[in-house]
Amino acid sequence: MNIADILFTRRCPFCDKIIALTESVCEDCRGKLSEPFKRSIGGSVCACAFPYDGDYRNAILKYKFGGKHFLADVLSEYMCSATDKIIGGRSFDYITYVPQYRAKKYKFNHSKLLAKKISKRLSVPCRELLIKTVKTAKQHKLNLIQRKTNVKHAFSATRDLSGKSVLLVDDITTTGYTLSECIYTLKNAGASQVCSVTFCGSRLRH
Ligand SMILES: [Zn+2]
Repeated sequence: MNIADILFTRRCPFCDKIIALTESVCEDCRGKLSEPFKRSIGGSVCACAFPYDGDYRNAILKYKFGGKHFLADVLSEYMCSATDKIIGGRSFDYITYVPQYRAKKYKFNHSKLLAKKISKRLSVPCRELLIKTVKTAKQHKLNLIQRKTNVKHAFSATRDLSGKSVLLVDDITTTGYTLSECIYTLKNAGASQVCSVTFCGSRLRH
């Protein structure tokens, strides 16, 4: 292997196999990727690009916790395709994302980067429409009942959204409580339509 291969090696985000620099996913994975699916969250449609398991789960966790921010390009590509297949035909005034607590303002927000990439691909402006006003515990460390109350009233809208249609972006949804609370907040600010899209979504219904 020469130095260029070492420096510029690209790997499949799903199975870690080395791929050509012109590819974003290996051929094997491309041929067996599952179809996006629909969930109903907060009384509206949520498009999930992939289930929250196996290689899909590994890919989003590598992005979220493994520092592989460059994966946003390929992950957002699948999120756009899921949006098109599940929510297609609707137009949006804004794209926004699930915010982090203010104290973490300068910390990297994984959902924000995905939202920005999706915004570029769909040519819809990305805006910070939500802020997190309460410091909450990490959802994945709580039980189901705690998760629901943990995010209750944790967000507020940054502007009047009367008559606006919004696409809300998050990286992962499991119970849907966080998205649901964000959707409630956006609708409370006047949004006429809010749809959401995630890279991974649990198929479980609660
Ligand atoms: Zn692969």
